[in-house]
Amino acid sequence: MSSENRVCRRHVSLRIRELYGLVSPLIERVSERVCPSCDYICCRERHFSYDLYDRIFLEQTGLYPTGMDTSSECDEDTYCRMLSENGCLLPRWQRPFRCTWFFCDTMISEMGEDGLMMEEIFGIIRELQQQRVKLRAGGGCIG
Ligand code: SF4
Ligand code: SF4
Repeated sequence: MSSENRVCRRHVSLRIRELYGLVSPLIERVSERVCPSCDYICCRERHFSYDLYDRIFLEQTGLYPTGMDTSSECDEDTYCRMLSENGCLLPRWQRPFRCTWFFCDTMISEMGEDGLMMEEIFGIIRELQQQRVKLRAGGGCIG
């Protein structure tokens, strides 16, 4: 790859963090309405697992959550260790990406009540996916 085309991981990471910041309040607007009355809380230990893209991103931020080795010996069906009475203890950008793209049927149906907001959420998630791919291909900053 030529130096002009090389992607700077630091800049991509900043954009990823910004995108998480944009999508989080939109998702929370929906989850606040449906999750408190849910009879199957989906935050389980098996979901608390960072993939390669999450790890590259968190390493770039320098804020890889300490003590968060996800290779735990917990029963994977128990509640996620990051779950508290007030929801997830981690800011969204520090959670595994899967915690942002997963939507249960109830969430999808609630989001469907506001088509524009749903489009906005999925548009941001699409860009997050694209930026994550760029991050993996990227290198150090040249500018
Ligand atoms: S996202 Fe869906 S399954 Fe998970 S706690 Fe909320 S309503 Fe329940
Ligand atoms: S959103 Fe938070 S509490 Fe839920 S599975 Fe992800 S890390 Fe765990």
